[in-house]
Amino acid sequence: MRIDASGNWLLDARQAPTPNCDERPDGDDISLILIHGISLPPGEYGGGWIDDLFSNRLDPNAHPYFAGIAHLRVSSHLLIRRDGEVVQYVPFRKRAWHAGESCYQGRNCCNDYSIGIELEGQDDEPYTTEQYDQLAGIIQALMRTFTGVTIDRISGHSDIAPGRKSDPGAAFDWRVLNARLAAMLT
Ligand SMILES: [Zn+2]
Repeated sequence: MRIDASGNWLLDARQAPTPNCDERPDGDDISLILIHGISLPPGEYGGGWIDDLFSNRLDPNAHPYFAGIAHLRVSSHLLIRRDGEVVQYVPFRKRAWHAGESCYQGRNCCNDYSIGIELEGQDDEPYTTEQYDQLAGIIQALMRTFTGVTIDRISGHSDIAPGRKSDPGAAFDWRVLNARLAAMLT
């Protein structure tokens, strides 16, 4: 995985820009990776609904679940699909809207200084080998580009919004990710 010279875009991702982003309060402070899990409708994979949600095009009538979320203005920097396809919605130097009310190590508003990575999945179903491979490669590229991003500053949505969010869920295996990262960094 490689990031372009501007530090904004993965060269190996499909780009699907969204208006759901804005400037970071401190553009030089990018210092946390947040892992999420998402599937739309919940438990179904492979459709275009996540793209639609992040671009404010989700049809509230297409599925009963969508009526409750179609009004949301949300986004993430990246999505890694079950087959390993990577989609980028927001340039890394801009603020994506993925964390909501959140706190990491005593500091609020994680969107300000984090990069959000969604994995297509659900809390209780194992993520795929392709997803771990891509995630590790992306994290390695981000660490090369942003000095504030380090191996000990990677967290899950449930950890920074406890009681409110459960993703990426118990199915996300931190040992698998850490083993891949360790292998890359040695
Ligand atoms: Zn999340």
